[in-house]
Amino acid sequence: MSESKNPSMIAREALKRLAVGHVPPTPANYQACYNEIAGLPNAAPFPEQPLRQIALALTARDKAQAAELSRLDEAVSRRSWHGIQEALVAFCAAGGGATADGPTLPPEFSVRLAHFVESVLPALGDENPQVAEMLGTLLVALREVPVDVPKLQAMLANFNRQIQFAAEEQVEIKGSLLKLLHLIIENIGELSLDDSWLKGQIDGLLTVVAPPLTLRHLDEMERRLRDVMEKQGEAKHRSIEAQEEMRKMLSAFIERLATMNESSAIFQGKIEQSAREIEKVKRIEDLAPLLKDVIAATRSMAEGTAASRKQLQSLQEKVQATEAELVQLHLELDSASALARHDPLTDALNRKGLDEALAREIASMRRKESPLSVCLLDIDNFKRLNDRLGHDVGDSALIHLANVARSNMRPTDTLARYGGEEFVILMPDTALDDGVEAMVRLQRELTRAFFLSGKEKILITFSAGVAQLTADESGADAIRRADRAMYLAKRAGKNRVMGG
Ligand code: GH3
Ligand code: MG
Ligand code: MG
Repeated sequence: MSESKNPSMIAREALKRLAVGHVPPTPANYQACYNEIAGLPNAAPFPEQPLRQIALALTARDKAQAAELSRLDEAVSRRSWHGIQEALVAFCAAGGGATADGPTLPPEFSVRLAHFVESVLPALGDENPQVAEMLGTLLVALREVPVDVPKLQAMLANFNRQIQFAAEEQVEIKGSLLKLLHLIIENIGELSLDDSWLKGQIDGLLTVVAPPLTLRHLDEMERRLRDVMEKQGEAKHRSIEAQEEMRKMLSAFIERLATMNESSAIFQGKIEQSAREIEKVKRIEDLAPLLKDVIAATRSMAEGTAASRKQLQSLQEKVQATEAELVQLHLELDSASALARHDPLTDALNRKGLDEALAREIASMRRKESPLSVCLLDIDNFKRLNDRLGHDVGDSALIHLANVARSNMRPTDTLARYGGEEFVILMPDTALDDGVEAMVRLQRELTRAFFLSGKEKILITFSAGVAQLTADESGADAIRRADRAMYLAKRAGKNRVMGG
């Protein structure tokens, strides 16, 4: 029946059917209806919409994939199944997204992994060319697209082993370095000229040279060693000078003795000769010239002796002066401990050490553009503690406070004794609020770790002021601000921390 209909009749009838059947007149529905009436094979409609949605869901990871996506788009527009297939296969191959032969790795991940490998390179050192080569190939493999995952896995296992070796080696190196330092410092201690001061410094050094080897420890060690070396160098220089002086005087003295001997030998010869001639003299008038000779010889001998005595006296005076100088040198060396950087009671930095540390931290703060806070703390009612329990207990309380502070500070913080019972704490990379919080934490720790005097538990509290350095402020100004805040904390009832 359909053969008799011409295309326009079929088209009209198709539209009528769509309307009667309430079928939406989409091109696909219309085509299906037309084919059915015309008796043509009804091919499945081209799924353009779903295909476009699939194309939208695909994201290109590189340029190649982006090109394949536009090819896919074009193929969908052309309704070319062949084109769609080609574009999809090429898209997968380009991105390494779904290769047929094994697991895959997202490219961002392998780039991150490559960065990670590069950042641990310095830890492995560069002495071993094989390791360097292995790392080179690993980095190349990580940057390949697509990444060969099984090959990479094997390489990473190897890399892991190398890191493990390197870490073990580092631990051993650190241990050996510490042992070596111990030996050197002990040796310096044995060689040292000035016992009282250097011994204290060397003991301090030996306590610092102990695991764990942290940067803070190393820094402190370096500063202490410099002090010791400076003082030793100075002492050596001065005592070499004094020794040289002594040596010169001694050789002058020996020379003098020799000439004295010489002149007394000449005198003796002359006297003996005169004695022999006197024996031979028959007439008294012949005696006179001989006696003249003897008197002249005796006078010259006496003059020589007087000159020698004078010279000896001045030598003696010089020796005494040199001795006095040596005594002075030792006294100076003793008082040099006051110039060193550490307070001998608490082992915190003293004012000189604080000035240096502050200058260093301020420079680092400006370089890194990071915050730096300073805290000034003052023990509450310390005079009362001294009066009640004695000065020695007061001293132990100061040591206790310094120890609790040190064990609760960050390794990069610095503790200094600012005055009698006042301490300054430098807190790098710390803004005001965090600094105040850290000091409140220290107060809490101090109530927990109370101080024992005999059997009596003594609670030490402190008042503190914290100031964060402004961009162009000096260290002294910041400490002044912290001091003012500390004073307000005292006024407000003590045992509290205030920000300045
Ligand atoms: P406040 O709470 O107002 O700070 O009162 P305070 O008693 O702590 O302060 P004050 O400044 O009146 O007294 C400080 C005391 O610290 C006086 C001084 O004898 C004592 N002191 C200072 N240095 C030392 C030290 O090295 N050892 C001992 N044992 N006491 C010290
Ligand atoms: Mg005070
Ligand atoms: Mg006080």
